Amino acid sequence: MNKQTYRRSIMQCKLDALHRRLSPQHEKYPQIESELGKRRSGDFGENSIDYYLSQSSGIQDCIIVKGARLLLNNHHFQMDTLLLFPSFFILLETKHLTGTLLFDPDYQQLIQIKKEDLNHEISRQEPILQVKMQYNQFKRWLENQGIEGYPGYCFVGVTNQNAIVKALSNPALVQEFVVRSPALTIKINDIQANQQQTRSTIYSPKEISLLITKHHALRNINILKEFDIDPTEIMTGVACPDCNKLAMEKHPRKWSCPNCKHQSKNAHTQTLIDYSFLFGTNISIREMCRILHINNVRSVRRMLKELSLNRIGTTYNSRYCLESLRKQQNAPSSEGAFVHFIILD
Ligand SMILES: [Zn+2]
Repeated sequence: MNKQTYRRSIMQCKLDALHRRLSPQHEKYPQIESELGKRRSGDFGENSIDYYLSQSSGIQDCIIVKGARLLLNNHHFQMDTLLLFPSFFILLETKHLTGTLLFDPDYQQLIQIKKEDLNHEISRQEPILQVKMQYNQFKRWLENQGIEGYPGYCFVGVTNQNAIVKALSNPALVQEFVVRSPALTIKINDIQANQQQTRSTIYSPKEISLLITKHHALRNINILKEFDIDPTEIMTGVACPDCNKLAMEKHPRKWSCPNCKHQSKNAHTQTLIDYSFLFGTNISIREMCRILHINNVRSVRRMLKELSLNRIGTTYNSRYCLESLRKQQNAPSSEGAFVHFIILD
């Protein structure tokens, strides 16, 4: 069995960093906490889909592209999961929702009823309509790229095992388009059995995936601006990896937590990663001293050497690139997987 390691989206990493470094007394704290919860749940759903896909032995020839954001007629559209096979593609919109999900395609709505509040009906965007729209946009995008005659399918993946799915209207449509994670590979095998196995376009899945990667529009959200939080409101200092409290104290070659007494040699790495998600991917020595609460420049230089960060610029104004730290922390593992994942954030 292949195991895909849990992967957090960039947005979850940004919200995590903000949540850790905002005072619980801050007026925006409850909002950040709620957004983080939603994002964690969404990422969990995505990971569960990836897990089932990576386990499936019938899809070796497939390339899976996650989170592609493409431009069509001056508007961007984003696709959760795109599976590129030699003779067809599948577009998946994943929903990780709890409780009872009442699909109502005739009225373009999805009604969610949570267990804890059975009298409260939450109206959500109808995902079948949503995925069909993305499908049409992607088809037009492919045509604009000169790729024609590449048939495709689209589905809504319900990733929460405990959710109850019901059709309020048009049950045949719901049955056709809604699929639960464990049944996804069966659905794929059915399509494969009914498809001609020869390539339907002159482009291979690899070529199409490269084209998508080339045109992918990165959505680099400035999380502080997004929530209208002033940079001075972000708490500095090294967070304890054990109790998550700020700020650890610096001792020669180690950090120590005044709250839980935990000791760590490299707790500053997470703080630098937090910095990169909140402020940007490169940092000066002066900023490092400020956020790590270190007065000694020589000590910071030694850390930089140990972390072997890329230096940008050669003058005293030079900055250090934190991207390699981020990658180490959140690298998706495709070790042993049958399929090839391309993650676009
Ligand atoms: Zn601690």
